Amino acid sequence: MPIIAPIPLKQKMCPTGRCDDLGLCPDCAAKLDRDMIRDRDWERSWTAWQTPADQREALRTHVVARYGARYELIVPPAPRRRRHKES
Ligand SMILES: [Zn+2]
Repeated sequence: MPIIAPIPLKQKMCPTGRCDDLGLCPDCAAKLDRDMIRDRDWERSWTAWQTPADQREALRTHVVARYGARYELIVPPAPRRRRHKES
């Protein structure tokens, strides 16, 4: 699994208290994964990481359609980082 760098989260622990300082529970990990996909942060999303590059946009479309475009766990963005201009 790719290492997830520190991300400003809206909440550190979920209401059930299953998240702790060391990690996220599966529910929150899934939310975070979807947030990474929303942000096109492919390297940090476990799901996207496993998805061929040419299918990631479709994956994102699917996530947004199913779960909505709002970020679930992270503080909404994070000024868009531009790595390289060319595609
Ligand atoms: Zn949790």
